Amino acid sequence: MEKKVALVTGASRGIGRGVAIKLASLGYDVAVNYNSNSAEADKVVEIIKGYGVNAIAVQANVGERTEVNAMFRTVVKELGAIDVLVNNAGIVNDAFLLMLSPDSLDKSLNINVKGYFYCAQAATLKMFKAKKGSIINVSSVSSKMALPGQSVYAATKGAINSMTATLATELAPYGIRVNAIAPGFIATDMVAALPEEKKAEYLTQIPLARLGSVEEVANLVAFLASDDASYITGQTIVIDGGLSL
Ligand code: NAP
Repeated sequence: MEKKVALVTGASRGIGRGVAIKLASLGYDVAVNYNSNSAEADKVVEIIKGYGVNAIAVQANVGERTEVNAMFRTVVKELGAIDVLVNNAGIVNDAFLLMLSPDSLDKSLNINVKGYFYCAQAATLKMFKAKKGSIINVSSVSSKMALPGQSVYAATKGAINSMTATLATELAPYGIRVNAIAPGFIATDMVAALPEEKKAEYLTQIPLARLGSVEEVANLVAFLASDDASYITGQTIVIDGGLSL
């Protein structure tokens, strides 16, 4: 593969970590973004370097535009380009409507929606010049299913699906593809935080009868990033063991 650089947001843990390692195993240089967990991000960088590619850890709260722009400057300075952006950093903060605090609402919108726009904008500025690039947005099956308590999370992920389709049409003339993935329940800290009885209940609703693995999600992201997916753009691809059927 010709040398390519990927930036994965929220790559210190969970899905982002798995995606960063998968892309490194395929030969990408990788920028590992994190918010607060520098020790874990450094460990991911060490694993990635074991594949003989270049990697850096780069701190930025994706919900802060100035931090995002500084992160992109660092990545281009250190790794030379941005060919693939994986917009992955996200939070879930479930609450019933009447229990929803303004702070929690703002935080979810800032990270899960504005953060994706800030990163897409900064990446596109670099990809325009190269006339190629791939942006993969990590959405959620919650954008397609109604789960009580998830109105904010579902709304942020629904916004990402719409953003993906529209940006795909805007950016296609510049050789940039934009896709989203919508995972179901994947074995990460985010799902570990769910109450046991909720997890057991959700498991009964998954036709494949198990959680998905980070590696299974990373394989899909790697495919969408690659030239094997050169005719796919604007799609939100569900990866949920059949949960949403
Ligand atoms: P996770 O295990 O909770 O990890 C979250 C990651 O995002 C961490 O690396 C964290 O960094 C980073 N992060 C959080 N806030 C950030 C911010 N403001 N700026 C930059 N980085 C930030 O989450 P996950 O389960 O891997 O989920 C990753 C994505 O997949 C999210 O968008 C989530 O909505 C989506 N998703 C997950 C599931 C699932 O079942 N797990 C299902 C559907 C969709 P620090 O370590 O530094 O805090």
